[in-house]
Amino acid sequence: MHVIIMGPPGAGKGTQAEKIVNEFSLVHVSTGDMFRAAIKNETEMGLKAKEYIDKGELVPDEIVVGVVKERLSRPDCQEGVLLDGFPRTLEQAEALDDVMSELNMKTDAVISIDVDEDELLNRLTGRRVCRNCGTTYHINFNPPKVRNICDHCGGELYQRSDDTVETVKERLNVYKKQTLPMIDYYKRGGVFASIDGSRDIDEVFADVASYLRDVQENTKDK
Ligand code: ADP
Ligand code: ADP
Ligand code: ZN
Repeated sequence: MHVIIMGPPGAGKGTQAEKIVNEFSLVHVSTGDMFRAAIKNETEMGLKAKEYIDKGELVPDEIVVGVVKERLSRPDCQEGVLLDGFPRTLEQAEALDDVMSELNMKTDAVISIDVDEDELLNRLTGRRVCRNCGTTYHINFNPPKVRNICDHCGGELYQRSDDTVETVKERLNVYKKQTLPMIDYYKRGGVFASIDGSRDIDEVFADVASYLRDVQENTKDK
C-alpha cells in the first residue's frame, strides 16, 4: 500500500504518520525529516535546502523530486510507503506519478488532515522535537512525561527554527498558494479522503486507520 498524508503545516501529519507506519507496517518517507537530517550532516543538498526552509519557502521541485526518487528506488519501499510532506505542488504530484510508474508502484490513498488556521498557529509554536530520535511533542497538547526530555530515548527536546510565528505565517501562505491546488488533482484521481484533524490525536487516528483498512482490503482484491 502506497499512501500520501498531506495537510497544512502543523495539522498533525508527522504525529499521525508515526502511528500509521506502526499499525500498517509502511516505510515512513518524510521530506522534511530528510532535509533536517541533511542539514544536520551539512551535506551540499542540506545547505541548499536550508536557505528555503529558514524562510518558510518550498525547496525547489527538482531538489525534492530527486531526493524522493532516490528514496523510493530502494528495495524497502516496494511493499509499502507513507509519504509525509510530499508532494506539495501540482508539479511534484505529476513527477511522483512518473517516478511511481517507473518503479511499478501506484498511489493507493491520499489523506488530507484539515485544521483551521488559529489552531495551526498554536500547534506549531508549541511544537517540540527530540534532537535524538525526532519524536514530536507539544508543550500543552502532547507534553513529554518530564519537561524537555523525550519519553522514548531521553533525548533533549528543541524548537524547530522554522516554528516561529513569522515563518509559520509564511508557510501557511505557501500552503494555500502552492499546495492546495494539488488537492483537485487527487480528488479527480478518486483516491482522496479528507479527515477532520481538529480532534484528539487518537480520535483522528481512529478515522485514518479505518479509512486505510478499507483501502487495504480493496488493494488486496486487485
Ligand atoms: P505536521 O507534521 O503536520 O507539521 P505535527 O505532527 O508535527 O504536524 O504536529 C504539530 C504539533 O501539533 C506538534 O506539536 C504535535 O504534538 C501537535 N499535535 C499533533 N496532532 C495534534 C492533535 N490532534 N491535537 C493537538 N495537538 C496535536
Ligand atoms: P510541516 O509539515 O510542519 O510544514 P515539514 O517538516 O514537512 O514541515 O517541512 C519543513 C520544510 O521543509 C517546509 O517548510 C519546506 O521548506 C521543506 N519541504 C518539506 N517537504 C517539501 C516538499 N515536498 N517540497 C518543498 N519543500 C519541502
Ligand atoms: Zn527521542
